Amino acid sequence: MTTICNNLKKIQANITIAAERSGRPAGAVQLIAVSKRMDSGKIHQAIACGQYIFGENYLQEAQQKLPILDDNLRWHFIGHLQSNKARLAVKLFDVIETVDRIKIARAIDQHAAALNRDLRILVQVNIGREKQKHGVLPEDTEELLESIRQTTRLTVSGLMGMPPWSKDPETSRKYFRELKELSVLLSKQELFSDNNNVELSMGMSSDYVVAIEEGATMVRVGTALFGRRE
Ligand SMILES: *Cc1c(COP(=O)(O)O)cnc(C)c1O
Repeated sequence: MTTICNNLKKIQANITIAAERSGRPAGAVQLIAVSKRMDSGKIHQAIACGQYIFGENYLQEAQQKLPILDDNLRWHFIGHLQSNKARLAVKLFDVIETVDRIKIARAIDQHAAALNRDLRILVQVNIGREKQKHGVLPEDTEELLESIRQTTRLTVSGLMGMPPWSKDPETSRKYFRELKELSVLLSKQELFSDNNNVELSMGMSSDYVVAIEEGATMVRVGTALFGRRE
């Protein structure tokens, strides 16, 4: 068994334990394998071991990698998106996790309409209120979701967030909890496409277990699966 396959099995086992600890079945949490700056050989190893959902941050890189890979995979865009690149993102990806302003939501919506498809999105929230991070501020999320209601092709599945960087995963817990609380509040206002089933994309290699304990339904894991990036 390859290292990547071993890593995948370990991560899946951790997901199962953490999900059960939060009172949910393992199937309630999706693993997004973050394959940015990983070559297709490594992605193939993960596929061979059963992984089929992947995340990429850079459009140019995705444009080169995705067409040579299997059609049955699911791709999440998790990088920062500019409006002039929205068309390419819509063409390549199944889910765009980083919608953080109305301008980009409208651009995605228009291109989805032009391609005659619907597209799942998440709204990225800057849960740590960090200047260097993208994402809508927690207090502005409601207004953004209200505006997104006027689009026609977007399925607004939930929220995505990244806490401030820390070595200690416990430091992330309160940010994950805040994002969960925000999602509950906004679902009561019926601002998502399915308010009984709101997705929460939170947690990376260092803190995905804590994120699941706090309610993550999607974790985005790169280095713990593939090893260090070049
Ligand atoms: C790179 C990245 C990840 C994965 O980070 P790891 O620490 O390698 O697991 C997750 N989410 C986003 C948004 C990223 O940019």
